[in-house]
Amino acid sequence: MEQTLKQAISLGRAAALTGKVATYIPELASADPSHVGIAAVTPQGTLHAEGESATPFSLQSISKVITLIMALMEAGEEAVFARVGMEPTGDAFNSIVRLETLPDHKPLNPFINAGAIAITDMVPGNSFEDRLARVLHFVRRLADNEAISINKKVAHSEWATGHRNRALAYFMKDAGVLKRGVEETLKLYFNQCAISMTCEDLARIGTRLAYPDGLIPRPVLRAALACMTTCGLYNGSGEFAVRVGMAGKSGVGGGILAITPGRAAVATFGPALDARGNSAAGLAMLGHLSDSLGLSQFDSYALNPALTR
Ligand code: GLN
Repeated sequence: MEQTLKQAISLGRAAALTGKVATYIPELASADPSHVGIAAVTPQGTLHAEGESATPFSLQSISKVITLIMALMEAGEEAVFARVGMEPTGDAFNSIVRLETLPDHKPLNPFINAGAIAITDMVPGNSFEDRLARVLHFVRRLADNEAISINKKVAHSEWATGHRNRALAYFMKDAGVLKRGVEETLKLYFNQCAISMTCEDLARIGTRLAYPDGLIPRPVLRAALACMTTCGLYNGSGEFAVRVGMAGKSGVGGGILAITPGRAAVATFGPALDARGNSAAGLAMLGHLSDSLGLSQFDSYALNPALTR
């Protein structure tokens, strides 16, 4: 395992040179594009880590998995999928085009920005502070780390410049998809995206998904992992399924969470992104891990050691 992670890091460092850090959220532009880290938890519960695995980064879209799980647990599958669809889009994560053309204006899935904002709208509570506290409480519980907090500079930076997300949210409010105050829900969304943690924390969250312990109920986990597999890397989800084959969720902060049920919980970090907004280093590292350890969910051979070809 150690050897495989070391090889992954060196492939990740090479791939990072091909990417660029996100700049549309100004605060993310200050990330060091050469940073590359990985942490993986085995079925035995051992955490292995290499590279900049203890460098914190903002979760960005990876937080959408957490709010989806919360909404599924609190409101149930029927209510969640009445708000958002469960189909991949093939469009960019922040695309606006289908919101108007779809007959019910329902975002196609919970992981594109529009869908994630609609899910955040479902977080219950009396005030912004109350709603954010619920999200943070759940994240800390999943990671088993009370120190996890929000990078306020990142949250403010996105709040000040998130014009496209505002456009998506106001359109959805007009269409009746959002029920609560638009600015409050947006502020909550920007803050959840700015939750900051290391690869090691994220891999620990991954253990709740890969090796369930009852905290996330079975149907909730099944739906979340299915959405990750079909939509977790936006318009790169098909390629990720072919090349890596794990349930994944990326974020423009440079993180990727990747799960093979029962076999692996992996978190990667590398803020240099490809053209679709997915971590260039993360994709290279996960491709290597999947090939070396047989982690693709679609690799029937990996489940039968007697078969070799
Ligand atoms: N906060 C980011 C946004 O809304 C999240 C996008 C992402 O990580 N892909 O633009």
